[in-house]
Amino acid sequence: MNEQLDELYRDILMDHYKFPRGHKHIDQPDIINEGKNPVCGDEIKVAVSLDHDTVRDISVDCMGCAISVASGSMLVELVRGKSLDEVKRIGRAVKALLKGEEINEDIDLGDLEALRGVRKFPVRIKCALLSWTTLIDALEARPEGSETIVSSTE
Ligand code: ZN
Repeated sequence: MNEQLDELYRDILMDHYKFPRGHKHIDQPDIINEGKNPVCGDEIKVAVSLDHDTVRDISVDCMGCAISVASGSMLVELVRGKSLDEVKRIGRAVKALLKGEEINEDIDLGDLEALRGVRKFPVRIKCALLSWTTLIDALEARPEGSETIVSSTE
């Protein structure tokens, strides 16, 4: 049973690695951030366009190991269309999942469940968390309640 599950998880991970979901160009993103995981050499760029406090679209461009790329791709699927508060909640749940802590909230982590096995490899946890910390750091740095100002004078 466990072996089959491992195999399934590996398949999901490799699918995200080979076909990352978040590769695209976003015009005039509201949030841009870059992150690095020097331990492994992973580098990531995240761009988000917002519709008020909802993620309208997101791109994740990750150069790195399979785990960092797959995790960034899963992030895209999970946060698109979500409110920023939800994104932060999901981010906390992902951290808990990867660190083997209890997840108190009822959150569907989708394909990210496939990264469960990463917790056995502490060095790899940083790879899996890179996209999340890069995104959430940028969200937290945003002034509270700030809204995208769309110029409408023309
Ligand atoms: Zn890595």
